[in-house]
Amino acid sequence: MKILVPVKRVIDYNVKPRVKADGTGVDLANVKMSMNPFDEIAVEEAIRIKEAGKADEIVAVSIGPAKAQETLRTALAMGADRAILVQTDDEIEPLAVAKILKAIYEAEEPGLVILGKQAIDDDSNQTGQMLAALTGRPQGTFANTVEIDGDSVTVKREIDGGLETVKLTLPAIVTTDLRLNEPRYASLPNIMKAKSKPLDTKSPADYGVDTAPRLTTTNVSEPPVRQAGIKVADVDELVAKIKALGIA
Ligand code: AMP
Repeated sequence: MKILVPVKRVIDYNVKPRVKADGTGVDLANVKMSMNPFDEIAVEEAIRIKEAGKADEIVAVSIGPAKAQETLRTALAMGADRAILVQTDDEIEPLAVAKILKAIYEAEEPGLVILGKQAIDDDSNQTGQMLAALTGRPQGTFANTVEIDGDSVTVKREIDGGLETVKLTLPAIVTTDLRLNEPRYASLPNIMKAKSKPLDTKSPADYGVDTAPRLTTTNVSEPPVRQAGIKVADVDELVAKIKALGIA
C-alpha cells in the first residue's frame, strides 16, 4: 500500500507572527519557515505504518514556492520515499490544494492519505475534508489513533469530551490531531540520504487546476494587547481584590 502525505511549509510555530503595517496579512520577510506541525505528525504516522509492514511506499507532496523543497527534504529525511513539489508562488486556498491533491490521488492511487488537521498559518481545517468530498472517499478527521487492518482503517477521533471510533474502507483520508504520536527528528545520515531521494517538480497547470483565489482577505489585525497585572502584598489583599471584582 502507498501512503500520500501532503506537507505544507508554514511560519515556524516558535515564531511570533507580525502583522504587516497595512493590515493585509502576516509579514513573512526573513521569518523562519518549517513543516506544519500536524504534517510532521502525519509523516511520522505514515512511517510507523510502513515500519509495521502495512505500507511499502510513502510519497510526500507540497504545494507552494520553490523553497517548499526544504519541507519535502525534511519529510524525506524523516523517512518518506519520494516527493512531489507542485510549485507556485500564488497563495493557494484549501479548495485549490484539495483539487491538486485529488489529481495526485488519482495518478498515484494511494491506499491512504494522511494530512494535518489544520495548517497553523491559515487555520482553515478544510483541506482533508474537501479532499474526501472530491474523491468520494471516507474520512477520519482529528485522529488520535490509526490502525490499519486489511482493507480498512480504524481511526479513534478526538471529539469534545472523549474519543469516537470509526472504521473506514480503504482508500481513506485521515487527518492528524496533536496526540496521535511524537514525530521523530531526522538523523544526520538520513538528512544526507534524503538529498538523493527522488523529488519531482510539477505545476498546478500540470493537474489542470485553476488556483485563482475565491476569497479576499479584507483585514488582518494583532490580538488586543493584554493589560498588565498587579502584585498584591498578601493573601488578604488578594481576597479583598477578588471580592471587589464581584467574582468570589
Ligand atoms: P488547512 O485546511 O489549510 O488547515 O490544511 C490542512 C492540511 O492540508 C495541512 O495540515 C496539510 O496536510 C494539507 N495542506 C494544506 N495546504 C497545503 C499545501 N499548500 N501543500 C501541501 N499540503 C497542504
